[in-house]
Amino acid sequence: MTQHFDYIAIGGGSGGIASANRAAKHGKKAAVIEAKYIGGTCVNVGCVPKKAMWYAGQIADAMAYGPDYGFAGYLTEQKPSFDWARLVKNREAYIERIHAAYQRGFDNNDVTVIRGFARFVDKNTVEVDGTLYTADHITIATGGRPQIPQIEGAEYGIDSDGFFALTEQPESVAVVGAGYIAVELAGVFNALGTETHLLVRKEGPLRNFDPVLKDTLVEQMAKHGPTLHTHSIPERVEKLADGTLVIHLNNGKTVGPVQQIVWAIGREPATDNLNLEATGVEVDERGFIPTDKYQNTNIGGIYAVGDNTGRAQLTPVAVAAGRRLCERLFNNKPHEHLDYSNIATVVFSHPVIGTVGMTEPEAIAEYGEDQVKVYNSQFTALYQAITEEHRDPTRMKLICVGKEKKIVGIHSIGFGSDELLQGFAVAMKMGATKNDFDNTVAIHPTSAEEFVTLT
Ligand code: FAD
Ligand code: NDP
Repeated sequence: MTQHFDYIAIGGGSGGIASANRAAKHGKKAAVIEAKYIGGTCVNVGCVPKKAMWYAGQIADAMAYGPDYGFAGYLTEQKPSFDWARLVKNREAYIERIHAAYQRGFDNNDVTVIRGFARFVDKNTVEVDGTLYTADHITIATGGRPQIPQIEGAEYGIDSDGFFALTEQPESVAVVGAGYIAVELAGVFNALGTETHLLVRKEGPLRNFDPVLKDTLVEQMAKHGPTLHTHSIPERVEKLADGTLVIHLNNGKTVGPVQQIVWAIGREPATDNLNLEATGVEVDERGFIPTDKYQNTNIGGIYAVGDNTGRAQLTPVAVAAGRRLCERLFNNKPHEHLDYSNIATVVFSHPVIGTVGMTEPEAIAEYGEDQVKVYNSQFTALYQAITEEHRDPTRMKLICVGKEKKIVGIHSIGFGSDELLQGFAVAMKMGATKNDFDNTVAIHPTSAEEFVTLT
């Protein structure tokens, strides 16, 4: 028997859920097909559990500041113990509550959830465990999965999914990679007391970020850890008799022995087992699905949103693209689409980074040096200034162009950079100039106020 829907989202992650709910809100018969767990990467093995682990690192920091804030007792007399398993249990219980909230949302909106792995039969039909489902509109929102290097012994390491499956804290770890996930997970391990090595294959992590961000991150790693190994490409992993792991590098050096290795070298799209051939939907050489600005693939009635399109791999991007798609399809808004420019993002590193828009080198390349005016600020956040030994710098940069000093880049690293950025991103999206920032009275005492008092 074949069941028919107006709209099907393949993939019950950020993009699929948001789009199906939006389709249903416009009165359409909608379904989500999910092979693993509702919520996808973000909720189960991404943003949410990562943020919980990052908060644990923040609490460890706060406890280290405790004595300078006048807290005495166990904080000064003995090292506070940390129960990784308990945190994981509470984190997973929270995720279960999110699953329940999603189910309530589906029930309220009358969205059908189909469990299982979907494969296309033709451009309007998918098959899940032998049952056929047809739809007028099908969105491919299958996300991605971690990449593992093709080297001897790679299987001894884990990926970010494996990180979230850890129920015990490793004593030592090597994290391999130079992007968001590598610096975030290395930061968490390090903050929670694991001996942590970060291996990057080039000169440093976050190479495409503004220099003030990546340089400060490296400077702070040198002070607080993790131990950074640059120009280090793993060639082979050796497992010793006691189960620990040694990474043999291209430069003849080794790292380890360590208890765990985490590969964080990027993610690949989950588009290979969908039988896309049956539809004619094209993928690029890496498997990403190209779409136009309306999320249309090359085949009418089939769309793609989220990580598998190869654009900014962020949850709010997948959500926004999915919702806008369904506004266009089902709410009579023929031009609705996501503007992918100036998307703000936070790297939950230690210290935390908030960034939106162009880096300084990008702005200079685009507009010419004489058109670019850069404002920098460096200070110690009051939160840390109170302490004797934890006075780390916060650094901020505003990049302006032209006579009007239109703001094209906002970058911040240091305490509070995560929460302060969203509002500034709105201002930038609206075309704010330096003058607009100067005309805004500061909120004191905050770190954010620096952005409206730069001279
Ligand atoms: P996903 O959320 O990956 O969902 C795809 C779903 O499709 C999966 O559940 C999968 O099981 C399912 N699926 C795949 N193929 C099929 C099939 N054939 N049939 C049925 N189901 C299928 N982003 C942020 O914005 N902030 C963060 O802090 C952040 N932290 C992250 C931390 C980590 C460790 C990782 C890995 C990612 C993080 N991200 C973060 C990125 C974010 O998780 C993704 O951008 C987002 O989840 C993408 O949503 P999506 O809908 O495209 O795919
Ligand atoms: P990224 O693409 O961010 O970074 C991976 C990096 O690893 C590459 O840029 C590259 O850096 C390095 N690399 C690539 N291949 C190798 C290799 N063979 N050996 C060693 N290093 C290698 O991928 P991530 O997996 O970190 O994250 C995927 C995406 O998920 C992110 O881009 C982001 O969009 C999203 N995400 C968002 C988060 C957030 O919003 N806070 C958190 C986590 C993920 P180089 O070229 O410098 O060597």
